[in-house]
Amino acid sequence: MKIILLGAPGSGKGTQGDLVTKKYSFPRISTGDLLREAVALGTPLGKEAKAIMERGDLVADDLVVKMVEERITKPDCAEGYILDGFPRTINQARKLENIDKNHQEVVIEIYLPDQVVIDRLSARKICSNCGTIYNLLGHTLEAENICNVCSGKLIRRDDDKLEVIQARLKVYHEQTEPLVDYYKAKTNYFQINGEGTIEEIFARVCEVLDKAIEKAEN
Ligand code: AMP
Repeated sequence: MKIILLGAPGSGKGTQGDLVTKKYSFPRISTGDLLREAVALGTPLGKEAKAIMERGDLVADDLVVKMVEERITKPDCAEGYILDGFPRTINQARKLENIDKNHQEVVIEIYLPDQVVIDRLSARKICSNCGTIYNLLGHTLEAENICNVCSGKLIRRDDDKLEVIQARLKVYHEQTEPLVDYYKAKTNYFQINGEGTIEEIFARVCEVLDKAIEKAEN
């Protein structure tokens, strides 16, 4: 199964993707994480992507598609995988279909109004050491600015600044949202409400996935 998580930045794709991986064992592939890793390592791809990501724009389709192709052809993806942040354009979606014709596609859109996205991302911090994501509106920290899991320092992502959040939302509406109609017309597409607690949203995700898995098995 090829699970595609669609949704604006900050809609909770990463958090829900991690929970899906824990429960269903499909590896989560986040193009944002892979790109941030390339930036941190200073690879040629990272050097090309850095300024684009800081502005909140999209990295070129070909670069991202190549990165995804390399990842989804690894043995741990044989039974399926969950994509977080990819595809982000119709062109990427078409390329993905050509790369992987085998796995059945399930698309879950986590819907959130823009203002909720802005409030959430403005309150988001991540651990500079282990990557745990904190929404400071909902999480209680044991010590200020320190990760509860590993005691690493919490930082704000460069692209979680207000002007960049607004730019990322604009890019989402212009380039990624057309995927909603694209997938509605052709595949197993489900929209879920992205408001509520992490557990409430995960229950909605599981309901969709359990149905899709049952359908695929029959
Ligand atoms: P994310 O962590 O998914 O919000 O991604 C962070 C940034 O990485 C985005 O704002 C883009 O600049 C870049 N990025 C991630 N995924 C893609 C993609 N599928 N296509 C183009 N750029 C991407």
